[in-house]
Amino acid sequence: MSGEFDEGEKLIAIPAPSRCDRDVRPQWKCFCCCDGGLVDNPYLSQLVSGKNGKPFICQRLDCKAGEKYRNAYFATDAQRQDYAQKHGGEVMTQQEYQAQWDIRLTVAHCEQMHLWHKRQWDAWAQERSKQLNYGQSISNLTQQISMQIEEKC
Ligand SMILES: [Zn+2]
Repeated sequence: MSGEFDEGEKLIAIPAPSRCDRDVRPQWKCFCCCDGGLVDNPYLSQLVSGKNGKPFICQRLDCKAGEKYRNAYFATDAQRQDYAQKHGGEVMTQQEYQAQWDIRLTVAHCEQMHLWHKRQWDAWAQERSKQLNYGQSISNLTQQISMQIEEKC
């Protein structure tokens, strides 16, 4: 017995579900980036052609998660060195950091995707609450049952 694994014993990766693909209505403040700071919604493909490019930083003005990325994106080299000295970690130059992200989306793009995505969830939640609305019939049923029992007594 050797301590090494055979090729055949390797695990097969299970694809992770998308963060935006949940079955309960999410409580995001920003439906453009799902509060993650990087644009992540089904409508991005309507504005951007091509896939698996650099992640887009969320540009919505009142998006706190996006703001963190925007601040980091525009931090100068001096600010980066300062930050690394205080908090540790590798120092990246502004150029290296900026090369990782795409900031070409505008405030208007992100606001539009936020509205589209939010509206989709609102419609879904409304549809779902209609489907789950058994409250009325159940209370009628219990009323009928208790009436039948009273008659028998
Ligand atoms: Zn956002």
